[in-house]
Amino acid sequence: MSFDYNNIFKEIFLQIEQTQDRGKIADYIPELGGVDPNKFGVHLISIDGRHYSFGDSDELFSIQSIAKVLTLSLAYKLENQKLWKRVGVEPSGNPFNSLVQLEYDEGVPRNPFINAGALVISDMLISLLEYPKQEFIEFVRKLSNNNKIDYCSRIAQSEKEVGYRNAALVNLMKSFGNIDNEVDDVLDFYFNLCSIRMTNKDLAQTFMYLANNGIEPISGERILSLSKTKRINAIMQTCGFYDEAGEFSFKVGLPGKSGVGGGIVALLPNKYCIATWSPKLNKKGNSFKGMKFLELFTTKTELSIF
Ligand code: GLU
Repeated sequence: MSFDYNNIFKEIFLQIEQTQDRGKIADYIPELGGVDPNKFGVHLISIDGRHYSFGDSDELFSIQSIAKVLTLSLAYKLENQKLWKRVGVEPSGNPFNSLVQLEYDEGVPRNPFINAGALVISDMLISLLEYPKQEFIEFVRKLSNNNKIDYCSRIAQSEKEVGYRNAALVNLMKSFGNIDNEVDDVLDFYFNLCSIRMTNKDLAQTFMYLANNGIEPISGERILSLSKTKRINAIMQTCGFYDEAGEFSFKVGLPGKSGVGGGIVALLPNKYCIATWSPKLNKKGNSFKGMKFLELFTTKTELSIF
């Protein structure tokens, strides 16, 4: 069945406009605090390459933690199964920047999408790549088919200035022997990857390889094997929304990932990839309107992985 997604987007937008946006913009990173809280955009790319969009879908925003899926993909491609000795695949049930569990788990993060896990993956990439920041952004540009995608030095610097908790996480893991490189180098790579800016369209395009069995659809290049693609999608399904992953799975039923910049990307294998952006976040750090929008979207279209 094919859908008139443009009309569905409009209908759902009108519906969520009537509910009060109870979220709050993430201002713990000062540079994110200045974003217009009323922005809303959505973009969907179907597996046959059609584009559908609504609202502010062409505006750049900070993808933050969404980039953790891309660092994981690159590290998994290069490191294979060895990767899982240093990071787990269980939902954490704790806030994304929690230190407590890491102490009990002796410096091995529960999964690659909480901050601790993404910091270990950053450490791995620094060891594996000759020019880590350059090679990683080139990987992202290839996936997005957009050579203009870049780090935002203002956002990276702004996070560095208040990044005490991330510094604590790296130091704690280093004390357990799970960080090989210098703490400052790991933090610098991490703050940069979180600072990448994209539009909804870029974001949906970038994640198409995960909807297309590991193949980037425009070039036809295989990015990940089928088995690795399945596993990354499985981790997005179980761990992609901080300590609200169960809720997202229950309400939306798609693998996805959110970031504190207000972006969400989600996909239905062999069907489509969709990206939403609305900066106000709920208490768990996920976009309030983005979650609502996607819940209504999979309910209306009756399309989900379940
Ligand atoms: N750069 C953010 C942090 O480390 C990422 C958080 C997120 O988007 O989940 O706090």
